Amino acid sequence: MALDKNYDAIVVGGGHNGLVAASYLARAGKKVVLLEAEAELGGATTSVRPFPEFDARLSRYSYLVSLLPDQIVADLGINFKTLERSIASYTPYSKKSSGADGGLLISQNWDERTAQSFQELTGSDTEGTAWQHFYGEIAELARRIAPSVLQPLKSAEKLKEEIGLPQTWNYLMERPIGEVIRERFSDDLVRGVVLTDGLIGTFVSADDLQANRCFLYHLIGNGTGQWRVPQGGMVALVTELKRVALAAGVEILLKSRVSELESDSNGVSVTTSDGEKFVARDLLFAGAPQTLARIRGESQPKSLEGSQMKINMLLSRLPRLKSGMDPHLAFAGTFHVNESYSQLESAYQRAKSGSIPSDLPLELYCHTLTDPTILSPELNAKGYQTLTLFGLHTPAALFDNSPEVVKAEAKKAAIESLNQYLLDPIESVLAVCQDGSLAIEAKSPLDLESDIGLPRGNIFHRDLDFPFIDGSGADLTWGSETSERHIYLAGAGSRRGGGVSGIAGHNAAMAVLAND
Ligand SMILES: Cc1cc2nc3c(=O)[nH]c(=O)nc-3n(C[C@H](O)[C@H](O)[C@H](O)COP(=O)(O)OP(=O)(O)OC[C@H]3O[C@@H](n4cnc5c(N)ncnc54)[C@H](O)[C@@H]3O)c2cc1C
Repeated sequence: MALDKNYDAIVVGGGHNGLVAASYLARAGKKVVLLEAEAELGGATTSVRPFPEFDARLSRYSYLVSLLPDQIVADLGINFKTLERSIASYTPYSKKSSGADGGLLISQNWDERTAQSFQELTGSDTEGTAWQHFYGEIAELARRIAPSVLQPLKSAEKLKEEIGLPQTWNYLMERPIGEVIRERFSDDLVRGVVLTDGLIGTFVSADDLQANRCFLYHLIGNGTGQWRVPQGGMVALVTELKRVALAAGVEILLKSRVSELESDSNGVSVTTSDGEKFVARDLLFAGAPQTLARIRGESQPKSLEGSQMKINMLLSRLPRLKSGMDPHLAFAGTFHVNESYSQLESAYQRAKSGSIPSDLPLELYCHTLTDPTILSPELNAKGYQTLTLFGLHTPAALFDNSPEVVKAEAKKAAIESLNQYLLDPIESVLAVCQDGSLAIEAKSPLDLESDIGLPRGNIFHRDLDFPFIDGSGADLTWGSETSERHIYLAGAGSRRGGGVSGIAGHNAAMAVLAND
């Protein structure tokens, strides 16, 4: 009979958070084993060659990095770089007066070109000025609040007082973001571009406070909120995290799915589906909280379901735009499609009533314009580009009855939405595989559940919480604690987790060390 294996800590899940947690603990002198269910590390932070005959390594799921604090990169000595995009976003539109095509181009840093683009859309400087004031206030809040996410949780009152920006706090944390956006901006398209950050992976209306939480995490990352391109793709992060974990002495076991878990006041023991048993003082669960609850035979925490389509594409060249904008500029940042405020709200209502929205709201981004290293030199020389599409308001429930049929419908809706603004339909610039198929893959929320275990495709594992104690969570110190003394949440579903941040892993490790 196999002997139990004894450790100080067992980390379940080898996504980026599990790797971060394991590394912090091993570097503090703990004997750590990390058990990953799949044959590869990374979870939602992986890169693959989805079209094997082309040497193009795409970030298959998550693709941009904003939330990973420099402190974690420095603490762990991760050799991982993110690159700035000169363009923040481009939103094509049909001009109200003439019906001609135009586009709102916003640079990363406010400049004359951006001011002119706002002028062209709205006919005055008012909206551009409102934009600068709004994002200036949020930038200041981001700078002040960001360090707190790697510290023990504070109450709302204490954090609000420390930050000292009561007005900004009020409109970000206490009033529905939809109401605030309607108050601060008058143009439907500008309002929508602002709102999108509240709806990524979050199936709610603009007036639901859940949109505020999503909005907040999209704007405070690392104190700047800037969304940057991971050099080499997401795999570069995982490769580095694996290297530092192994160097610190973490034992990593793949194909080790934890299926049973017992705990008492002295510690924990887990058994994998292969029947291997591991014993430790502490367990850090870096998969979803719903999975932990299932393994423990408890009822699963209630949560919104995932609501996005992810479509990865390889292009032989970028498509030309009806607006005449240079595609090398238009796709250099986030390319918004059908994301005016009213379009976002009506897409939400339509999806809620059971149909895939026809004018599907989309966000696209081209990794290779900022970082061509994910393509082979041959593909680069031929001018190939990658394109990633993130479709909003396609909740998991829509796919339940006929998953493949509805996925095909949602993919078609996404392509039609995009093509409204392209001179070259996207199909005409997709790379063609040897068997004649086009280089495009689509993932529905149900695929995200079956491929990488995200409950109902929720990209944040479960609903995001504000980064403080607000009525709930009074029993939490780091946001990782559970009702069992020796079991901690170390993945995106812990408080302040969600996104590619490593914050959940860091905080769970700190909670364990604080309980020594
Ligand atoms: C399509 C998509 C796009 C996204 N885009 C972005 C983005 O651009 N930027 C961003 O910041 N965030 C993005 N996100 C969100 C982000 O990727 C996730 O929130 C984050 O990666 C979660 O990391 P994690 O380590 O906590 O968990 P995961 O990456 O989910 O990893 C959990 C790991 O635990 C393993 N596991 C689960 N159960 C068990 C078990 N019983 N036994 C052993 N192992 C187990 C899983 O196999 C998995 O490897 C996106 C997510 C998706 C799906």
